[in-house]
Amino acid sequence: MTMQTLLDAITTALGDVPRPVPLHEPYFAGQEWTYVKECLDTGWVSSVGSYVDLFEQKLAKKCGVKHAISVVNGTAALQVMLRLVGVRAGDEVLMPALTFIATANAVSHCNAIPHFVECEKSTLAIDGKKLSDYLEKIAHIKDGDLYNKETGCRIAALVPVHIFGHPADMDALQQVADQYGLPLVADAAESLGSLYKGKPVESYGLCSAVSFNGNKIMTTGGGGAILTNSSDLAAKAKHLTTTAKQPHKWEFVHDEIGYNYRMPNINAAMGCAQLEQLDDFLLAKRKIVDAYSRAFDGVNEASFHKEPDYAHSNYWLNAIVLHDVNERDSTLAALNQAGYICRPIWRLMHRMAMYETCPRMDLSISEEMEARVINIPSSVKHGL
Ligand SMILES: *Cc1c(COP(=O)(O)O)cnc(C)c1O
Repeated sequence: MTMQTLLDAITTALGDVPRPVPLHEPYFAGQEWTYVKECLDTGWVSSVGSYVDLFEQKLAKKCGVKHAISVVNGTAALQVMLRLVGVRAGDEVLMPALTFIATANAVSHCNAIPHFVECEKSTLAIDGKKLSDYLEKIAHIKDGDLYNKETGCRIAALVPVHIFGHPADMDALQQVADQYGLPLVADAAESLGSLYKGKPVESYGLCSAVSFNGNKIMTTGGGGAILTNSSDLAAKAKHLTTTAKQPHKWEFVHDEIGYNYRMPNINAAMGCAQLEQLDDFLLAKRKIVDAYSRAFDGVNEASFHKEPDYAHSNYWLNAIVLHDVNERDSTLAALNQAGYICRPIWRLMHRMAMYETCPRMDLSISEEMEARVINIPSSVKHGL
């Protein structure tokens, strides 16, 4: 029977662990207590303190970029990143329909309009070829800007999402972006530690946004960052996220409408401790993947979702792809009933009430994958 085979595979992979088994738990085995205590002891818990600078330096290095600007969460990082590359009110932003709601919300927070594009089966990320064919039909370039012929709106950016940590095909997407003069900026909320063609995936495109929410591969409690090689964009990001205040000994002069999005020092302290363990977390993830791959090898009902050939994924969240499009909900019910906290992939963006009327291309692959993908327990501790 289907359910029993799937249950057995998960049990074989994870071994005898207490249930319920969460989908993804944070793991604290480093200097978290020490660094956070230091913030409390010294009083530097809030918007000023040395851990913020330290965290940003270490993070930039890890991601192979020149600059990291830490902020309060991944959604804020996305919003600021979009604003930095010129997304304005009324513009459309190309982004996948298959993603977490925050990508679309960040576009909306810029008063822009999400324009949903199709994913490919292998990575679940944007399909460059289909996007290119689509833009060929619906878009035209006028005075150096790209416009949607159907809505008349400017198309201002292309935002791939590295789903579950698996890098989108950035070279293919960069080619589309270049062809149409679009800035390529990535939602890398899930992919910290992933490599694309041997280099950190965050080093591709103009900027990337990462998240340090409690369910991500490492956490600062809540947090996010903008990563870029551009010194100009980095300076603008810092300025915008810290109330756009001009430096002065005592005067409060703010030169545009900024945000209070700065990451507090106490969260950055936790981030420094977590970052020191990231390589161990990545190794642990590999062990879990090996165990799942072996356990699902030969299972007829589903396949284990693997990284593409060109990438080394952080495997943040593991997934299985059911072969039957009609079994997802009964499978979820059985797995959760057995104490394995499993979840469907996110409901597609164009099926949410607030995004129903947004422009979109044919999304049949996204719709098929929505019906087939299930996330299975992926906590670091299973691989230690
Ligand atoms: C987690 C996540 C975000 C948002 O990050 P927060 O820190 O929760 O705001 C954005 N996009 C994707 C794909 C995510 O998984």
